[in-house]
Amino acid sequence: MIRTGLGYDLHRLAAGRKLFLGGLEIPYSAGLVGHSDGDALIHALIDAILGALGEGDIGRIFPDRDPRTKNVRSTELLETVMTMVRKKRLRIIHADAVVVAEAPKLGPWFPDMKKRLGPILGLRDDRLGLKAKTNEGLGLIGRGRAIACWAVVLVGGKKA
Ligand code: MG
Repeated sequence: MIRTGLGYDLHRLAAGRKLFLGGLEIPYSAGLVGHSDGDALIHALIDAILGALGEGDIGRIFPDRDPRTKNVRSTELLETVMTMVRKKRLRIIHADAVVVAEAPKLGPWFPDMKKRLGPILGLRDDRLGLKAKTNEGLGLIGRGRAIACWAVVLVGGKKA
C-alpha cells in the first residue's frame, strides 16, 4: 500500500540566533525561534512522514515542553521518526519540499542538505526534491520575519 503525507511548518526569525535549515547551519544574520533548533524544513518533513504513518503530528511525538528536546538538533528528531517508519516495515519512496523564505538564498545549500537528509530518509538525490520560493515581499515572510516550509512524502512497504 502506498501512503502520502503532507507537512507544513513556520518559525519566526530572530536576530542573533543560529539558522538551522535542512539539517545544516547556514550563515545568516537571524535564526529560527523554536524549542528545538527551529529547523522548519525538517519539521515539515517529519509532519509529512507522521501523517503518512497515521501517527498524528510532531507536537504529539515531541512535546515542546519536554526538556529532553530543548535545543535538540532536528536531524535527531528525524532519525527517531525514521525508526518508527522502519518498525512499521515501511520506507520513504520520495519526498518533496518547498521552503518559503525571503532570505537567505537557499538554492546553493540544497546539494549539502540532500547529503545530510538523504541518508537519514534513505533517499537518493533524485528522490528528494528541495525548492525555494520567496514570498514576493508580501506579509511577514516577505518582510523576513519568518520562514515557512511545505513537504509531501510518499511512503510504501519495504518491497513497494
Ligand atoms: Mg516547528
